[in-house]
Amino acid sequence: MKTASILGVHFHAVTLQQAVEVAMSRLRTRQKGYVVTPNAEIVDLCRQDSAYMGIINHASLVLADGIGVIYAAKILGETLCGKVAGVEFGEQLVAAMAKERMRLFLLGAKPGVAEQAGRNLCAKYPGLVLAGTQDGYFTDPQQAIDAVNACGGVDVVFVCLGAPKQERFIAENMDMMHATLFCGLGGSIDVFAGVAKRAPDIFIKLGLEWAYRLLKQPSRIGRMMKLPKFLLIVIKERLFGRKGK
Ligand code: UDP
Repeated sequence: MKTASILGVHFHAVTLQQAVEVAMSRLRTRQKGYVVTPNAEIVDLCRQDSAYMGIINHASLVLADGIGVIYAAKILGETLCGKVAGVEFGEQLVAAMAKERMRLFLLGAKPGVAEQAGRNLCAKYPGLVLAGTQDGYFTDPQQAIDAVNACGGVDVVFVCLGAPKQERFIAENMDMMHATLFCGLGGSIDVFAGVAKRAPDIFIKLGLEWAYRLLKQPSRIGRMMKLPKFLLIVIKERLFGRKGK
């Protein structure tokens, strides 16, 4: 797989469909691994935390989630195959899993939300097996590990604890869990449960999903102001830095 380097984070240049194919082929051959979907905020965090950067760059699939990453690639002259939103990857992976009666575990979100998300996904994608769920507000990680292992073999675990918690949880605990593929998917369980809504298609097509989320939740302004700052760092890297560093 070709990669595109953005401030040291090595993204895989794949389309949504290719990403799902890679994931499915790993599942069929039981190759353990994990998928991350960094946005600009996560790339920025990686710059400040080399251990976290190591976790992100060791993933089997590093998908470009967010318009900030797409702009950064353009500025740096790196080739990506467009945005692959984590929530879209998650849903398409579930659709493919359902055809092969694979087993999904949902880990994350507030109590009750993962169960609702599981019911919705099973109704939409017959064939999918919901192996189990666990909310994301456990105090001891062992609780989540035990919950997964009590299911007797899982193909995919969606780990939705928000970044950077979810990627750290995966890196620290995946070896102890009887599952093949771990996907860090942020707020996706909320979306599958219908608790959080994605922006209308027109916003997504215009690359304005961030604006919709800001209108819906003005408290996100602090997080959003990081984007222009991030793009300035990228421009500086283009002008003065070593590319691909
Ligand atoms: N969350 C969780 N445990 C925690 C903190 C957060 O399960 O300790 C969940 C939270 O309920 C939400 C998700 O993680 O479902 C994070 O959503 P957010 O939209 O912040 O993630 P993003 O996609 O923006 O990283």
